[in-house]
Amino acid sequence: MKHKITLIPGDGIGPEVTAATLKVIEAAGIEVEWETINAGADAFEKHGQYLPDELMSSIGRTHVAIKGPISTPIGKGFSSINVALRKTLTLYANFRPIRSLLGVKSRYEGVNIIVVRENTEDLYSGLEHVVVPGVVESLKIITAEASTRIAKFAFEYARKHGRRKITSVHKANIMKLSDGLFLECVRNVARMFPEIAYEEMIVDNTCMQMVLDPKQFDVMLLENLYGDIVSDLGAGLVGGLGLVPGANLGDGCAIFEPVHGSAPKIAGKNLANPTAMLLSAVMMFQHLGEVEKAALIASAVEKVYATGKVLTADVGGSASTTEFADAVVQHLVN
Ligand code: ATP
Repeated sequence: MKHKITLIPGDGIGPEVTAATLKVIEAAGIEVEWETINAGADAFEKHGQYLPDELMSSIGRTHVAIKGPISTPIGKGFSSINVALRKTLTLYANFRPIRSLLGVKSRYEGVNIIVVRENTEDLYSGLEHVVVPGVVESLKIITAEASTRIAKFAFEYARKHGRRKITSVHKANIMKLSDGLFLECVRNVARMFPEIAYEEMIVDNTCMQMVLDPKQFDVMLLENLYGDIVSDLGAGLVGGLGLVPGANLGDGCAIFEPVHGSAPKIAGKNLANPTAMLLSAVMMFQHLGEVEKAALIASAVEKVYATGKVLTADVGGSASTTEFADAVVQHLVN
């Protein structure tokens, strides 16, 4: 079956990790008809829009997209193109599996955490204003509807995939109303899933606990800002941002993308690690029902790390983006 997928290469290291990923997908024999349309500064030059109508109508048709990182031009239009895309399509769940890869040097082994981050509100609502010169206000929006929706997503995921525990992360001791409401909604949902252990942890303590003993966490459930920060911390536990994939999921469509940003310092140098983008593609093909081919790609990536000969600089090697992709292709066939 030929899949129709929207492809957003992004900018910075985006096009490089995208090219590497496409090479592997093709070698795995997955048939795809790509609708390639960029967003961000590149799209503004071509279409006069940061989020082109053509892109939105493509996702409306395909219901699934894979996206490289996009940097947001400061002070122009959107506060963030990524946030705008997630909000416009109501991709309310940001899903980030943080797993140790055999062969990657890091302080921890056996980390296997699922980060579920609310994706549509909190301080990312972009509601900021100057009250008087020298005083600004940034509004943190938390609603019962979005909190309940993300809690249901996390618990249903845990039930379906046999995960044992959900840790809800908050700062309700200070933000009594907003984080208080979030916790109240999560507790209501937790009661419907008695087989799944439920605990709550204050965000600052959570960060310390993750560094002390990441294995105590199973599924973590967070509001938007805490989820953003804790995902990067989690990436650091397993070897860095180059390794962690992600998905933005809604009721009607899904966009898969690495956790990392556009890393402008290493862009255009063939240095970026394409693993996060490749594993995002693996998640996308699982979502599309290409379970065997997805597993084939995942296992080829794992073999490259386990062999340890062709690794990019971020994980202690000296291989280029393209050499890494070629090594994955080699392991697909061998
Ligand atoms: P954003 O604000 O868009 O999230 P950022 O500047 O906070 O972006 P990233 O662009 O994700 O962060 O990158 C932070 C650093 O992590 C980069 O400077 C780079 O060193 C490293 N990094 C991120 N992604 C990769 C990758 N795929 N390969 C290698 N190094 C990476």
